[in-house]
Amino acid sequence: MSSSTLLSRRDLAFLLYDWLDVTRLTDRPRYAEHSRDTFDAVLDLSAQVAAEHFATHNKAADATEPTVDGGRVRIIPQVKAALDVFAQTGLLSATMDEAVGGMQLPHAVAEACFAWFHAANVGTAAYPLLTRGNANLLLTHGSAEQIDTWVRPMVEGRFFGTMCLSEPQAGSSLADITTRATPQDDGTYRLAGTKMWISGGDHELAQNIVHLVLARIPGGPPGVKGISLFIVPKVLLDEDGRLGPRNDVVLIGLNHKLGYRGTTNTLLNFGEGVHRPYGRAGAVGYLVGEPHQGLAQMFHMMNEARIGVGAGATALGYTGYLKSLGYARQRPQGRPVADKDPTAPQVPIIAHPDVRRMLLAQKSYVEGALALILYCGRLLDEEKTAPAEADRTRARLLLDLLTPVAKSWPSQWCLAANDLAIQVHGGYGYTRDYDVEQHWRDNRLNPIHEGTHGIQALDLLGRKVTMRGGAGLELLLETIRATVTRAWKAEGFAAELAAPLGTAVDRIALVTRRLHGTGDPELTLANASLYLEAVGHVVIAWMWLEQVLAVEALGSPEGAEGEFLAGKRQAARYFFRYELPKTVVQFDLLDSLDRTTLDTREDWF
Ligand SMILES: Cc1cc2nc3c(=O)[nH]c(=O)nc-3n(C[C@H](O)[C@H](O)[C@H](O)COP(=O)(O)OP(=O)(O)OC[C@H]3O[C@@H](n4cnc5c(N)ncnc54)[C@H](O)[C@@H]3O)c2cc1C
Repeated sequence: MSSSTLLSRRDLAFLLYDWLDVTRLTDRPRYAEHSRDTFDAVLDLSAQVAAEHFATHNKAADATEPTVDGGRVRIIPQVKAALDVFAQTGLLSATMDEAVGGMQLPHAVAEACFAWFHAANVGTAAYPLLTRGNANLLLTHGSAEQIDTWVRPMVEGRFFGTMCLSEPQAGSSLADITTRATPQDDGTYRLAGTKMWISGGDHELAQNIVHLVLARIPGGPPGVKGISLFIVPKVLLDEDGRLGPRNDVVLIGLNHKLGYRGTTNTLLNFGEGVHRPYGRAGAVGYLVGEPHQGLAQMFHMMNEARIGVGAGATALGYTGYLKSLGYARQRPQGRPVADKDPTAPQVPIIAHPDVRRMLLAQKSYVEGALALILYCGRLLDEEKTAPAEADRTRARLLLDLLTPVAKSWPSQWCLAANDLAIQVHGGYGYTRDYDVEQHWRDNRLNPIHEGTHGIQALDLLGRKVTMRGGAGLELLLETIRATVTRAWKAEGFAAELAAPLGTAVDRIALVTRRLHGTGDPELTLANASLYLEAVGHVVIAWMWLEQVLAVEALGSPEGAEGEFLAGKRQAARYFFRYELPKTVVQFDLLDSLDRTTLDTREDWF
């Protein structure tokens, strides 16, 4: 197996084939053209393109961030060169239908492919990933003509896409957006307003930029029920689909960020009159679907986008882990506690138990998170292609419940992995000579965008665990308990882990009931973030027990494969000994209906 410092090909193969058994999906009509060979080929291609064209300018794109020069955005040329290669791979449409030029790959495999690009260079990878999200939204909600006009060029890599939700005064609270869209006699709209934080909002990496913009049609209901979705291209097209006049969308400035520096992040004004398409001010927009459905349409794509954020966080944690592992093997420093002979050579730091602790922590976080992400990808595949309607419904329900965890847990703990990767490097980790400080900076975005950590917590405890009368939570608990039962039956190491996981699952059920039994919504949700974190740890412990069961099924081979499986068992042991017990304290606090945050007055700070 390759010794890439981006991701582990063996781990991906273990998770996809030995555990999730994705090859079985090829029995279904949608994936019938595929086989393990085609999956391997596209995984190999992703690994190669990521290593050769993305990783190679990761530091350069960070060091020389985009600038604006005379209204035009300048980006180092390696970014466009890499994106041109990416477009040729066809990966942008990996999971899309063949009818629109897609590969019809299972989501689980596609997530694994994209993970290589996240690990290699998140800043450059963000452009196609945003474009993918935009195209998928239009494929679901756009008209046939809109798909033809806007999705096709995006799939071919000629146009890129954005998602324009946030405004300076409306981030978490999208109910407060004010961008207006005024209907015109010809069926189009004219938009006016300001959008903040728009990733990929301006550049010259593609011929055109397709903005998907949330705005209000005057006279519509207030709040989220009055938000509609519009296609607003940077450059308008003539009747034959050729590039026409500039639309009235203007770059006001770039945001200067901690990380993700290769991705332009923009403040955009719509409809100020700087450009006057067809003779007058106003950004020309095309309504997607029905009026006032904008947020519902966006939410439709939220699961995929949020799992994508978790996947990016995981990949950054993973590459940091592999790099710190490589460093720990070759950095000589100090001597073993039991043998301090100063004339003996120093040992590599991996010989010190505390360094192995930091490596085990990282391994348990990143491999646990990767398992969750690919599991969610597999649920997307079930939702789309399971032969029985009941199985499709179950997959959707479980995925809805797991989405806030899949977004937030990797964003918190794979960032913690990056922190440990810096620590393993000692002082060198704090310099820009090594990669790990950049991974930490890049990863720091993930608990903020696509719904902050706190917003995911409110989503899980306030909405998801009570949806459909609690059916989603019941399904999750039932699914974890089924793993626990299998582990008891397997005996040995798996059975050792079954008891603590079984207890933790019971606590989720009890604590959730207690929190929702207060009759006071403020008290119920006061410690929602703690709840998200405790549930997240139980979910990752479950992912580890699942992996242990897959490991046991592979037996005890000799050589590298044996070492790989022993490493899996030890990381599981670490997670169950060092991490899962933390949830006892968290559940106790939740169970006590603690009021500390509620009772703290603003003027006490
Ligand atoms: C680099 C970057 C890229 C981005 N890309 C895009 C993009 O492409 N398109 C786009 O539309 N947006 C994008 N965003 C915007 C991003 O989604 C928002 O920053 C995010 O939703 C938070 O909004 P805010 O920054 O206004 O913070 P606020 O909403 O003001 O939140 C500040 C803090 O208050 C907390 N908070 C807010 N409301 C509540 C509440 N009701 N209960 C409890 N806590 C609360 C939050 O959790 C957070 O900790 C991007 C942001 C960044 C930094």
